Amino acid sequence: MTGRLRTDLYDLMRTPGLSGHEERVARLIRARFSDAGVESRVDRMGNVIASFEGEPESPSVMIFTHMDQLGFFVRRIEADGLIRVERMGGVSERAMAAQAVTLCIGEGRDVPGIIMNKAHHATTPDEKYKVVPTPEILIDTGHGSKQAVEAAGVKIGTPVVYQARIIELAGNRVAGPSVDDRAGCAALLEIARGLAARDGGPTVHVVFSVQEEFNLRGALVAAQALQPDIAIQIDLMLATDTPDLADRGDMRLGGGPGISLYSFHGRGTLNGVIPHPSMVSLFEDTAAELDMPLQRSAQIGVLTDLSYVQLVGEGVASIDIGFPMRHSHSAVECCDLSDLQSMCELALAAIGNIGPDFKLTRET
Ligand SMILES: [Zn+2]
Repeated sequence: MTGRLRTDLYDLMRTPGLSGHEERVARLIRARFSDAGVESRVDRMGNVIASFEGEPESPSVMIFTHMDQLGFFVRRIEADGLIRVERMGGVSERAMAAQAVTLCIGEGRDVPGIIMNKAHHATTPDEKYKVVPTPEILIDTGHGSKQAVEAAGVKIGTPVVYQARIIELAGNRVAGPSVDDRAGCAALLEIARGLAARDGGPTVHVVFSVQEEFNLRGALVAAQALQPDIAIQIDLMLATDTPDLADRGDMRLGGGPGISLYSFHGRGTLNGVIPHPSMVSLFEDTAAELDMPLQRSAQIGVLTDLSYVQLVGEGVASIDIGFPMRHSHSAVECCDLSDLQSMCELALAAIGNIGPDFKLTRET
């Protein structure tokens, strides 16, 4: 399974898909679905949905992950051809300087660029430890004039992402931009293949969602249409096994999949997820059955589109599951393929444990 996961992850990471511009990623996912003989559809927002019919008396499940990635939109092209951008999503400004980017014009027509960084030889002592804010950032494509940049297809509103790069670290570790959440996409493809081959189990809707990094609400549209009883969301879990995060939690890269017991974001968002107790038990019991370690996360500052999905209809029994990841929202996000693989096994087994008597109510 790791071989196919790795291939899917690399292909997905090579495919740009800024929020609102996920079409190329969607096309790749749908091609993988048709290779597996699975029918899929796309809703008006761009969410890719594949439904696996199951036992009608069991609660229905929506399992989802986001296809989009963070990046930038072109805001202005200067007369000398240098480009100014707006950030799209929670881009770390500390991690932007001197990175390579891709201006997404269309397949075969994309324009490479670099985020400029003042020559070190000319950097003054007070500039040395200063983060350059986005309005002062310039991107150079080498064209040298506004006319030449525009002739290459770049205009106001052009999506920009970090240049796709796959860094194979020792063991099963992979780094690069868009591990958040193409790693989730590769895993969900594998889960979908498992669902296609299963016998019995509940009805499951597999959703690859849009615009998570933008406003967290693409998946909401799919949930409104599908009206699931249960929602399982896949995304990164903040790995805290680096010296700078040692006091933030106990989530180890390579230590297996995790569940979130609490997520919250207050800055302008005011949302988060406290998972349904039946979903926590489901994943704890399934991990125990599989004799698989299950890591736990409780973090402020983390948020997924499940925050909105849980509020659909009469309420959806929800949980965030995920894979540990380091260096979030930078161009060197890092995951471990072994975590992805065990997360797939866990999710498939957990879904298989959802039967007609699964308890959706909260009274004891
Ligand atoms: Zn994400």
